[in-house]
Amino acid sequence: MSKRIYHFHEGQVALKPLLGGKGANLAEMTGLGLPIPPGFTITTAACLAYEEAGQILPLGLMEEVQQALFLLEQRKQLKLGDRHNPLLVSVRSGAVASMPGMMDTILNLGLNDETVEGLAILTQDERFAYDCYRRFLHMFSTVVLYIPTVLFEDMVHLMKQERGFVEDHDVTADGWKEVCQSFKQAILERTGDSFPQQVEQQLQMAIEAVFRSWHNPRAQVFRRTYGIPDAQGTAVNIQAMVFGNWGEDSGTGVLFTRNPSTGEKMIYGEYLANAQGEDVVAGVRTPLSISHLDAEMPYIYEQLVDTALKLEQHYKDMQDIEFTVEQGQLYLLQTREGKRTAQAAVKIAVDLVREGVISPEEAVERMEPMHMDQLLHRSIRHGEALTVLAQGLPASPGAASGQVVFDADTAVQWKSEGRSVLLVSTETTPDDIHGVIAAAGVLTSRGGMTSHAAVVARGMGKPCVCGCATLVIDAQSGTLRLGNVTVREGEALTIDGATGQVILGTVELQEPQVTAELAELLRMADSIRELQVYANADTPEDAAKAREFGAQGIGLCRTEHMFMSPERLPVVQAMILAESDVERAAALRRILPMQQADFEGIFAAMDGLPVTIRLLDPPLHEFLPSLYDLKDQLHQVEAGLSTGIERERLTHVLRKVESLHETNPMLGLRGCRLGLLFPDIYDMQIEAVFLAARASIHRGVAVLPDIMVPLVGHVNELSRLRKRIDECAERVLGVERLLCPYRVGTMIEVPRAALTAGEIAQHAEFFSFGTNDLTQMTFGYSRDDAEGKFLAQYLETGILPVNPFQVLDQDGVGQLIELAAARGKAMNANLKTGICGEHGGDSKSIAFCHAIGLDYVSCSPYRIPNARIAAAQAVLQHRKQHMQASLSQQAERMSKRKVEAI
Ligand code: ADP
Ligand code: MG
Ligand code: MG
Repeated sequence: MSKRIYHFHEGQVALKPLLGGKGANLAEMTGLGLPIPPGFTITTAACLAYEEAGQILPLGLMEEVQQALFLLEQRKQLKLGDRHNPLLVSVRSGAVASMPGMMDTILNLGLNDETVEGLAILTQDERFAYDCYRRFLHMFSTVVLYIPTVLFEDMVHLMKQERGFVEDHDVTADGWKEVCQSFKQAILERTGDSFPQQVEQQLQMAIEAVFRSWHNPRAQVFRRTYGIPDAQGTAVNIQAMVFGNWGEDSGTGVLFTRNPSTGEKMIYGEYLANAQGEDVVAGVRTPLSISHLDAEMPYIYEQLVDTALKLEQHYKDMQDIEFTVEQGQLYLLQTREGKRTAQAAVKIAVDLVREGVISPEEAVERMEPMHMDQLLHRSIRHGEALTVLAQGLPASPGAASGQVVFDADTAVQWKSEGRSVLLVSTETTPDDIHGVIAAAGVLTSRGGMTSHAAVVARGMGKPCVCGCATLVIDAQSGTLRLGNVTVREGEALTIDGATGQVILGTVELQEPQVTAELAELLRMADSIRELQVYANADTPEDAAKAREFGAQGIGLCRTEHMFMSPERLPVVQAMILAESDVERAAALRRILPMQQADFEGIFAAMDGLPVTIRLLDPPLHEFLPSLYDLKDQLHQVEAGLSTGIERERLTHVLRKVESLHETNPMLGLRGCRLGLLFPDIYDMQIEAVFLAARASIHRGVAVLPDIMVPLVGHVNELSRLRKRIDECAERVLGVERLLCPYRVGTMIEVPRAALTAGEIAQHAEFFSFGTNDLTQMTFGYSRDDAEGKFLAQYLETGILPVNPFQVLDQDGVGQLIELAAARGKAMNANLKTGICGEHGGDSKSIAFCHAIGLDYVSCSPYRIPNARIAAAQAVLQHRKQHMQASLSQQAERMSKRKVEAI
């Protein structure tokens, strides 16, 4: 049977999966010779065995605990339950991944009516002994017996009032004695059993409670939020107590080796004299800045800082350290990698490289996609004074301020009046989708990270805070309550989707920006990565932004977005509604210079870099009013509200819209199909590209246009259109063709195109995998319908592990991409391949693109920094795997040789 208990002096940080983070680090620190109270760890494996057996302790475990305890007792020269020399221990939970405050810890275990007297005599401090006892009774009751904590807080409060004490440290021995009596009475009343005086029983109950705490609702929500697997379990650490509540030269505190909000290199922490454990974070008393410790016990402070820096050097990262001072003696109780804001994460990583502590590779490796995501959304300025009303789940990053509305229709209406709105609801449903679109952000009281609101908001890149349990909505009176604050519909709230905070009023937000540190980190990533990073950008402004963020080209420029502006739309509509070729040609002539101007702007912004221009993709009816609106208008006209001319025009439009109407527009007349049926539209666009190229060349701009044909499913579609593109280039550019090394390629977004990629590659210089459409067509989902209607449920019930529109489905869609890229490159060695679509900014999807050897990824400008980091991480990950593989190969060869030798 494998070892289930490790003393701190037996463990090390490498055993983290078994010992949990806390236990592994306590062991590591013990090994470094730091002042750690002795103790031992029961493994996570024991916790899993306990769970598997239906919450029954594994056979023989308690005997092993007794043996380990025996050693501890010898070292401390104290004995658990001894009435003269009682040993007290803490029973501390400790998962593999840090889950601060999510699971439970019990202090001062081993006290009972007898040992408390022993402790009083031993320490000659009765007040201290009973302070410990009441703390233990309180924690034991809440953690093990599940009695609500307020009950105990109220009793302390009552006693203080009756006896005229203000602060906890004013309370006398008698005061705490009285509290202990009431606590025990409450336990008896609540559970029907008296408080267990048997210390062995206390210990066993505490161990089981810590094991069970792995499954408490708080911990479960936390795990789901941060993607920590349920099947890890928690370790239990049993450690000799040291006492921060033993007089004024004792105390307890926490310390960060760098500022966790800004990353600045400084000791940052809080300290409370004469206090124990959670007092610092529980808000019982306001802790003092750590500098007070420097003033009062400089030698301790010095030792602490010294140790803290040593730990940072040892772990090569910012540490979050818990410590206790007992009568002028320093003890460390925990260290771990400190949680930090996104800004701090970047600054700390770059500083550690500058200080020579870590390599650029390590710095890049450490960046979490979540952090990059936060950096590149609007955020609340650091140091802003905030009234935080509540904490929900950080469901979709970014901050948003807006007027509170409770229903989707009002949200849409207010938005149309130019107001910024925050949609607040118990949860959202597919019927609210228009409200989500109109809102600056979404706040819900129910639902988790995969609820409808969360999925839809993330899909739209909109801030969202979900599952805010303290939020109470009273739609009838048009108010919401958060604690004791009431907010009316129309009043302002702010949400921070990166932290889950809900804040009163409007807060000034800052636009995402590339700081000097981030720029340096990105340069480190650039020198590692192999994938190129392009941007999806439709306008010269977007293109400029993309270049600022480091785009190496434009991977997708959607020309139709240029058609949508209010000045242009009427001309586009005239083109669509044209009754004759002549009429249509006239409209197209008017659109051409507009498109040309746009292209010139983009070429200028991307001087010297490739620009991939996609020809018109959506079905034409998208540029016309909806059938529904038209019928409505016509109704009004018929009711005599308008002129005869108006009626004629509407009838005409209606007829056209009806003729363009499709049952399944996504699968209808769009993309290259449109280009082949209405050649003059594509011809105009192609001509605009080459005219813009020529004008730009004359201005000294280096142009590299890549013309991209959308939605090809059969090679003939591409070969015919390609011929037209080449002819147009010849016509417009003539000999100047040589100065304009344009390329023609296609999007691979229809499964048939992927399967016949070999043929298609003979007519293409590049493939761009349109992963949005390819995902839609491979799954047979229309994205809007899926995200609006059933995807949230699919995610919630685990039918799908992740949203395939956010994280590329490697097993299905990915297979098509891999196969198409391979077949394409086999036919055309110079074929350039990449993906565009939202997946281009997603770290996991980027890792896949690297693994299958694509040349680039293209994503929205704000996601470029993350893409640069993720592309570098993919290389590092690949190298690691490669190394591991060759190591195990080597080992295999060695063992083979051995076998052969025998
Ligand atoms: P969490 O995981 O919630 O941080 P811990 O197990 O770290 O819980 O315990 C919380 C606090 O209790 C610690 O920061 C420390 O101050 C105190 N504590 C835990 N064990 C001991 C001990 N053996 N002696 C003194 N204080 C302790
Ligand atoms: Mg702790
Ligand atoms: Mg598409």
